[in-house]
Amino acid sequence: MSLEKFFDPASVAIVGASQNAGKVGYEVLTNMIAAGFKGKIYPVNNKTETIEGLKCYPDLESIGQAPDLVIIIVPAKIVPAIMQQCAKIKVKSVIIITAGFKEVGQEGQKLEQEVVQIARRAGIRVIGPNCLGLIAPKKRLNASFGGGLPKEGVIGYLSQSGALLAAILDIANTYGIGFSKLVSIGNKADIDELDLIESFGQDDETRVIAGYLESITNGNDFMRLAERISQDKPILLMKSGSTGAGAKAASSHTGSLVGSETAYEAVFSRAGIVRCSSIKRQFDFAQAFASQPLPAGDRVAVITNAGGPGIVAADAIEQHGLVFAALTDETIKKLTRMLPPAANVNNPIDVLGDALADRYKLAIDTVIEDPNVDIILVLLTPQAMTDSVATAEVVAKACQERGNKPVFASFLGAAKISRAVEILRGSGVPQYDSPENAVLTIKAMVDYVRWRQRPKRVVKLFPVNRRKVETIIEKHLRQDIREVGEMESKEILEAYGIVTPKGTIATTAEQAASIAGQLGYPVVMKIWSPDILHKSDVGGVKVGLRNSQEVMDAFDLMMYRIPKKMPDADILGVLVQEMCSGGKEVILGMNRDPHFGPLMMFGMGGTMVEVLKDVSFYLAPLTAEEAKQMLINTRTYKMLQGVRGEQGVDIDAIAEGLQRLSQLVTEFPQIQEMDINPYVVGAEGKTPIAVDARISVEKV
Ligand code: ADP
Ligand code: MG
Repeated sequence: MSLEKFFDPASVAIVGASQNAGKVGYEVLTNMIAAGFKGKIYPVNNKTETIEGLKCYPDLESIGQAPDLVIIIVPAKIVPAIMQQCAKIKVKSVIIITAGFKEVGQEGQKLEQEVVQIARRAGIRVIGPNCLGLIAPKKRLNASFGGGLPKEGVIGYLSQSGALLAAILDIANTYGIGFSKLVSIGNKADIDELDLIESFGQDDETRVIAGYLESITNGNDFMRLAERISQDKPILLMKSGSTGAGAKAASSHTGSLVGSETAYEAVFSRAGIVRCSSIKRQFDFAQAFASQPLPAGDRVAVITNAGGPGIVAADAIEQHGLVFAALTDETIKKLTRMLPPAANVNNPIDVLGDALADRYKLAIDTVIEDPNVDIILVLLTPQAMTDSVATAEVVAKACQERGNKPVFASFLGAAKISRAVEILRGSGVPQYDSPENAVLTIKAMVDYVRWRQRPKRVVKLFPVNRRKVETIIEKHLRQDIREVGEMESKEILEAYGIVTPKGTIATTAEQAASIAGQLGYPVVMKIWSPDILHKSDVGGVKVGLRNSQEVMDAFDLMMYRIPKKMPDADILGVLVQEMCSGGKEVILGMNRDPHFGPLMMFGMGGTMVEVLKDVSFYLAPLTAEEAKQMLINTRTYKMLQGVRGEQGVDIDAIAEGLQRLSQLVTEFPQIQEMDINPYVVGAEGKTPIAVDARISVEKV
């Protein structure tokens, strides 16, 4: 349902309008008036005749018609009664600014439910309660107590924190940043981030969506919606708080490596959301997205009047994986002809400390034409000769005339550049207080463009033996067993095409030697007990046993030592297993997030995973590209490719293992956590082997 009447009402009633300065009911009314709202304003207050020259109504009914929008500012316990009146006169859009609902505990929660029920029954949409209201600059609508009306612009902002929105308004008004709409969503009893992102997505005035969220109401819907909208409009989010998934006690490596932010990070990268770590960063980003065309590539040219900042920018460009543009010969020739001999005509182009605006203009005009350049960053420090104001005008003009390449400015200084900065901001040139901040913003834009151009997601389905897995899982759930034992874990993996080492359980030393003989030496022996999760920790793993004597000795030693260390463990025997040598050890895993579903993990494997923490996460189901990207996102990736002349391993085979696991956990929501550690991978063409696996299941 459209939220049109919230943003473009012909009439607004303010229930609880007050004539006492300092009261919220006064602030909202005077903000409405001061903004120059063109529609009708109806203050509702039964104790007075007029407020601020406007006729007051004792109640909603006496207005004689249903206002398009009703703002409620009366004490919480009266709100349900006002909602009843809204229902009666067929109001459809209500903002409840009043606090004292869900956020104060059970009483408030009940009151909030009551309000929601009335709204649902009457088909009323509600913003709030406990919010700051909303602002639509173009309609001169300031239905809030947040502050003065900001400039018109293309940023649609939604905030779960009213206080933060007040700060944002202050910043925006100071720097002249414009908005299409600003909404404080408060307790989001009805309208939530999903409604607003959807509405901003459809809104022609909004080109950039930005917001601050503390919680996400419906993880999966959020992800799908954001993924769809991001394809058209960037979504820049600041997010605090966590899903709480990481707080659960974990029995797997993956579980213990999942952080409270992991799920959000995975969701954001899947949905193309640009994450912002602070308000400042959000505005750094928003300014650029709002005013500049998207870059066609990642090649940056820097123009500067000082060497130092140029080098700082160059370092940042390199560090953030962007490309320092190599200028064409033609550009270099032109620059050589036009700039003084001492100038540097290679990127970063140094127009020298005595450069006036004209030199900047020559450089910008030339570089902007260069086919090897996608993005231009103009740096300036206020030196003796510098004319920062004229230079700002040159940059602004270049920005307007050559609309297809984004231009960024970082004028450094304070008082000496303040006028220039005003000019830049006023003409829509994103200006940054340091070259690094400019580069970080460029990086955010380039990443967004890359995301938009990603290949269509195709999740491959492998032929598997689902029945087999179903049987094992059902058996565990029937018996109320959470941890699937090693043997059955491996059967599950085999059913999904993941190869595991051969091996059998031995209960005597002689039996162990005979199994080893059949497998062929060398072999590995592992203690076999449902009570021992980490076998190496108790001396329960012996690798590289070369003959029957070593096998028998290892058996006796384990059977002697381990019961002493773990007197309560039920020891069933020793697993004699084929040895997988010559490979590298990685870990594949999954931890199920309660809101967003299965989070897949890849990383450096072996017994040091928790120490090195070189892992990456992504949401299942995985495509081949996403699986590969998970590998690339770790430091281990370099090692896997082969270092110092060493042969690399079969990268695609690991990615396939991840995809198969992803299919398994997608098809079986009962699997809560799992990991394969190590997954031993060898050179190309060699099948990776899941040497050790852990799976835990729960009823769903
Ligand atoms: P746990 O993780 O319970 O300590 P693992 O089965 O993972 O036990 O074994 C610990 C380590 O021993 C592995 O990380 C691996 O380095 C090595 N290892 C275990 N089994 C094998 C095998 N079959 N082939 C080669 N190395 C193995
Ligand atoms: Mg292990």
